[in-house]
Amino acid sequence: MCSLRYGQGVRWMLLGLKRVTILGITVDRYSMQETAEQIRRAVETRVPIRVVTANPEMIYVSGRDQRLKQLINSAEVVTADGIGVVWAARQLGSPVHERVTGVDLVQALFPIAHAGKWRFFFLGGKPGVAQQAANQVCSDYPEIVCKAWHGYFNSEEEPQVLEQIRRFQPDILLVGLGAPRQEYWIAEHPGLASVSIGVGGSFDALAGTVIRAPKRIRKLQLEWLYRLCKEPWRWKRQAVLPRFVLKVLGQRFLGKTS
Ligand code: UDP
Repeated sequence: MCSLRYGQGVRWMLLGLKRVTILGITVDRYSMQETAEQIRRAVETRVPIRVVTANPEMIYVSGRDQRLKQLINSAEVVTADGIGVVWAARQLGSPVHERVTGVDLVQALFPIAHAGKWRFFFLGGKPGVAQQAANQVCSDYPEIVCKAWHGYFNSEEEPQVLEQIRRFQPDILLVGLGAPRQEYWIAEHPGLASVSIGVGGSFDALAGTVIRAPKRIRKLQLEWLYRLCKEPWRWKRQAVLPRFVLKVLGQRFLGKTS
């Protein structure tokens, strides 16, 4: 059983159960706008929250990793990252509004952040990439204050990274260390920012070092296929998808959640 997420008790009663449980992972059914609103509220109230952008791979892996499952289910916000999660929610009779991926969510936050003069710390990616992403964001939204650090630090360098983040006092900490490492890292370092979000490879997209699928392809829900063609090494990761589908069908027709 998952723990109750911060402030959601009242919201559940007001909005109904806007969540769906997929293979034991509870995913929010909020739209992009509603998710951004939750984050805005957390920044304003300064009560720290964790945001997980859950893709099918992460949900599947959490079936074998109880700690990861607990970490995801205790996060305040868990979004449906990927068409596989959107499909699963529909199969289970609780459709989600839309796909809320890390990079789309972050981009939806920038105009709000610009108005509120928020501070963003970008942590992750190959050396130089987070800085390039931060420079791009700060040039598009000059009121946002950004700082960046790469994601290839070792345990001896970690205290220095933590010190940089603490000194900067970010409103939003974007952690792009790859899943599930970023989810563990965020949970192990609470209170660094009002909102900590695991964003996977978003800095590569923001910096332009990885080109996202054109909008047309994204609308057709085929971004995963585009990525697979561009980054064929991903097939190993995506090989989990058929098993995810079978498990979701097992949950739908046999009530099996593991
Ligand atoms: N990454 C990192 N440190 C590491 C390993 C990976 O910062 O030790 C970064 C990597 O450079 C890339 C991101 O993590 O930017 C990849 O994350 P993931 O594969 O989860 O993201 P996805 O591409 O699925 O969004």
